[in-house]
Amino acid sequence: MNLTSARESLKKYYGYDTFRPMQEEIIQTIYDQKDALVLMPTGGGKSVCYQIPAVTMEGTCVVISPLISLMKDQVESLRANGINAAFLNSSISGAEQRAVEDDFFNNNIDLLYVSPEKMVSSSFFPLLQRTKINLFAIDEAHCISSWGHDFRPEYTKLQFLKNQFPNIPIVCLTATADKLTRKDIISQMNLQEPSVFLASFDRPNISLDVRPGQKRIEQIIDFIKKRPQSPGIVYCLSRKNTEDVASKLQAKGIKAMCYHAKMPAIARSDVQEDFINDNISVVCATVAFGMGIDKSNVRWVIHYNLPKNVESYYQEIGRAGRDGAKAEALLFYSFRDVQVLRSILTENGGDLMDVKLAKLDRMLQFADSLNCRRKILLNYFNENLDQDCGNCDVCKNPPNYVDGTVIAQKALSAVVRLKERVGIRMLIDVLRGSGRKEIFQNGFHNIKTYGAGRDFSYNDWQYFITQLINLGLLEMAYDQNNTLKVTPVSKEVLFSKRTVKLVRFVSKKEQKELDKVKYQTKTKKQVLQDELFEILRTLRRQLAQKEGVPPYLIFNDATLQEMAEKRPAFDAEFKAISGVGERKLVRYGNYFMDAIRNFIKTKTDEGQKVKGSTYVLTYLEYENGATPQQIANARGIAPMTVYGHLATLYERGIDIDVSKYVTNKEIDQILSQIDKMTPPFTLTQVQEALGGQIAYHKIKFAMAHQARAEV
Ligand code: ADP
Ligand code: ZN
Repeated sequence: MNLTSARESLKKYYGYDTFRPMQEEIIQTIYDQKDALVLMPTGGGKSVCYQIPAVTMEGTCVVISPLISLMKDQVESLRANGINAAFLNSSISGAEQRAVEDDFFNNNIDLLYVSPEKMVSSSFFPLLQRTKINLFAIDEAHCISSWGHDFRPEYTKLQFLKNQFPNIPIVCLTATADKLTRKDIISQMNLQEPSVFLASFDRPNISLDVRPGQKRIEQIIDFIKKRPQSPGIVYCLSRKNTEDVASKLQAKGIKAMCYHAKMPAIARSDVQEDFINDNISVVCATVAFGMGIDKSNVRWVIHYNLPKNVESYYQEIGRAGRDGAKAEALLFYSFRDVQVLRSILTENGGDLMDVKLAKLDRMLQFADSLNCRRKILLNYFNENLDQDCGNCDVCKNPPNYVDGTVIAQKALSAVVRLKERVGIRMLIDVLRGSGRKEIFQNGFHNIKTYGAGRDFSYNDWQYFITQLINLGLLEMAYDQNNTLKVTPVSKEVLFSKRTVKLVRFVSKKEQKELDKVKYQTKTKKQVLQDELFEILRTLRRQLAQKEGVPPYLIFNDATLQEMAEKRPAFDAEFKAISGVGERKLVRYGNYFMDAIRNFIKTKTDEGQKVKGSTYVLTYLEYENGATPQQIANARGIAPMTVYGHLATLYERGIDIDVSKYVTNKEIDQILSQIDKMTPPFTLTQVQEALGGQIAYHKIKFAMAHQARAEV
C-alpha cells in the first residue's frame, strides 16, 4: 500500500485534500504492518488514521470502542461517505448481529466496530480467526489502564489479540494518557516496538476567554443573543444551577434545556437527541454532559463556575469545535467559586486532598493569568508554545501593566500593620482613607499607610489585591473569615528585593471603547457569508430531519462555512470544498448548489455586487429555458458573452445542451480544422480557415467540447 492511494481515498470518501499533521505517518506505520500508539486531542482526527488503512487495504479493520452509544453515529457517518461499515454490540438483536457477522465473514465490510464485551466473547473468536483482518484499532485506549480515569476491565482481556494474531498490526488511540498510562497501554496490549505518536494538544480553533463572574446571567444572555442558532453548552457546578440557568435563558426566549444526573433517563436522552439534531441550541449541564456524544458542531462552551482542575476544563472546552471550525470557550469565575470548591474538597478530605487543592490552585492561576492563556494551558500538559496564541482574551486585549512594586508595598505593609486581621474590603478602605466608623473604632486610621492609596479607585484596589493573591504575595485565610495574610514572598517585596508587575483595572465603559476599536463592524463580504451560512444551515437541518440523521453528519460546520465563503455553484467548484467527497456530492450537491445559486440571484436582484455571479445568472436563465438572445436581453449583456458563459460551463462539465447551438457535424468539421493549426491561434483565424461561414459561438462550443472531453 502506498500513500498516494491513501490520499486519493481521503479525497474520494471524505473530500479532504490533505492529511493533518501525523495522520500520514501513522497510516504509513500501519501500511508497514507495525503497531502504533496515537495520542491526539479530541477533534484531532484520530479516526482517519485507521479508517483510511481500512478502506485501502484488503480485508476488514476491527475497531474496538467502549462507547456503544457512539458506534451507530460513527457507522452512519462512514456510510454517508460511501464506506462499508457496521457495528456489533448488545444494542442490536441477535438476528441483526448474525447478518453483520455474515457480512464480516464474507469480506463485505471495511470497518467493523465491536464492543469490548463482544470482542472477548468466546463465540466471536472463531469468526475472527476465519476472517481476513487488516488491522485492530483500539479506540479510547486509555480504558485499558487502571491508571487512567476510565478503567474498563474488559479492555485488559484484549491482550489475546497480539498473542493470537501476531501478524496483524494494532493501533491504540486515545486523547488522554499521561506517561504512566501510555506505558501501561503498550505493555498490556503487548504492542511490538510500537511507533508512538504524540500530537500537539493545542486546539487553536477554540478561542479562550475568562471573565470575572459578576452578572453572569446577563453576560451569558448577551453572549448567546450575539450568536443566535449557534449550539453551545453552559457547564454549571450543581444540578440546581443547571435548572436555574436554563429557566432564565428560556425566559429570554432562548431554546435552552438543562441536563443533570438526577433527571429521568428518558428526559436526559431527549435533551441529548434534541441537541444533537439542532432542535435546541443550548444545554445547561453538569459535567457529565457531552461524554457520550459526538456532536461536532458545538460552537461554544461556557463555564458558569470555575472547574476544579485544568484537566476537566480542557476536556470540557474540547467538546467545542471538533469540526475544526471556529469555536469559543468562555470561563466565569469568582473568589466565591474558589471558596466553594475549596470547602468541598476540604470537607471530603481523603488521601488526595492536597493534590486536589493544588490542582485547583493551578486552575485559578490559569483564570487569573495575565499572560497568554493557551501558553499556560499547554504548559500544564508539558507542551511549549513558542509564540503567544493571538486567540485568547489576554492576547487580544493585552493588559495594561504598571510598575506595581510601590502599590504592592503599600498593601502588604497595611496588611502587616492591621495584624493580618482584615479582609479585602477593610484593607481597601484603610488604604483609601475611608471615614468608615469601624476604622476609627479600631484605630486603623492611626497606621502609617492609612490613606496611602487614595490615588486609586476601589475597583483598582480590588483588582490589584486579587493579583497579589494570585501572585502568591497575599493569602486569603478561608478558614478565618477570609482575612488576608502575608506570605514569605511578601517580605521580599516589602524589603524591595523583588519587583511586582500589576495590571490596571479597566472599567466597563473603558472596555467598551477599546472593544469598539478592536471589533470593527463586519465587512460586506462577512455579512454576505453569514447570511448564506444561515441559509445552508437551515437547509442542512431540513435534509437531516428528512433522513433522520444528525445535521453535522450531512456536512460539518467547517464545510458549510467554506461553502458560504466560496459559493460553489457548480459541481467542479463544489467538489473542491473540503469535506465534500464523491458520495456526498451526488447525494446532496444539488440541494446546496441550488440554494447557493438562488442566493446569488436574490442578492444580485437586490442590487448587490456578488463576486463570480455572472455565470450563475446566465445559468439560471438557461435552466429556465431562455435562449441565448433572451438571456442577453434579460441580463443586459451581449449575446456573445452569453455564448461564452455557456461554453465555459459546458467545458466545466455542466449539463448544457450544446446540440441546440452546434451540430455534431459542425463540431467534427471545426475540430479537424483546429487539429491542423498550430497554437496559439485566435477564433477569427479558425473562422477564416473554415471559409468564414461558421459562427464564432459554434467554434467556441466545439473547443469547449474538446476541452471537456480532456478533463
Ligand atoms: P477524533 O477522533 O480525534 O476526536 P475525528 O477523527 O472525529 O477526531 O476528526 C475530527 C474532525 O476532523 C472530523 O470532522 C473529521 O472529519 C475532520 N478531519 C479529520 N482529518 C481531516 C483532514 N485530514 N482534513 C480535514 N478534516 C479532517
Ligand atoms: Zn493567547
